[in-house]
Amino acid sequence: MKVFIFDSAKCNGCYGCQLACKDEHVDNDWSPIALPQPDTGHFWCKMNETTHGQTPKVRVEYKPTFCNHCDNAPCIAAAPDAVYKREDGLVIVDPEKAKGNKALVDACPYGAIYWNEELSVPQKCTGCVHLVDEGMLPHCVDLCATGALRFGEEEEFADEIADAELLTDAAHGGRIYYKNLPKLFISGDVWDPEPDEIIQGATVSLSDDFGVLATATTDGFGDFWFKKLDSGSYVVTVEADGFVTQTKEVDLVKSLNVGDFAMKRA
Ligand code: SF4
Ligand code: SF4
Repeated sequence: MKVFIFDSAKCNGCYGCQLACKDEHVDNDWSPIALPQPDTGHFWCKMNETTHGQTPKVRVEYKPTFCNHCDNAPCIAAAPDAVYKREDGLVIVDPEKAKGNKALVDACPYGAIYWNEELSVPQKCTGCVHLVDEGMLPHCVDLCATGALRFGEEEEFADEIADAELLTDAAHGGRIYYKNLPKLFISGDVWDPEPDEIIQGATVSLSDDFGVLATATTDGFGDFWFKKLDSGSYVVTVEADGFVTQTKEVDLVKSLNVGDFAMKRA
């Protein structure tokens, strides 16, 4: 069975994968796998760019999404005569049998199916099986220069899959695994108002009801970061030699710059 692996830590947001999909499918007829993708409006490989945090503590997350090639696919349940799963796990919308079936667009809970008005056919990522069957890689994977996007046999990637996640419901499963998705962060900075200077080397700890979860040391800009957090309630405590310890309670819903800690001399 084939899988795609996306590693967020290696992606530089170049949009090469999205462009590769256009390059491979717009104006190209890969029947009986897929008819040509229209010039505009379709994103069989869609790069999602999300900005986390608040100025100046901001991080941008890049995440391509595709058809998940679900193992228990709602689109197949909706149109079993027109959509099929290959032995290698990739899900294909048959362009002839699905012709005129606009309702199939809504059968995918992940928004992966697009309607081609001109050809009157629902369309989506094919996993570039016209290339895979010739021993080549899907074009998006081939053009990813950083190795963020890879493709191959499930067994080859067993170790990486162990700490990766699917974006689908557990009931649907799928073939696209995501690694190192950033989750949420808490950041801030620490400074001394008297000389109006940042404090480097202050100890910052992050706690919840069960105790200290992590500690950080402020850097040369007086900044601290706690990354890969789940939403929840936290307490940030800042300690620095010669200063009164400060705390802030944080209710984390989205990534947060908690602002500056103006330290008072002890
Ligand atoms: S992501 Fe949508 S189109 Fe792809 S297999 Fe699952 S239900 Fe079907
Ligand atoms: S081609 Fe690779 S590095 Fe570029 S946006 Fe896509 S996954 Fe990220």
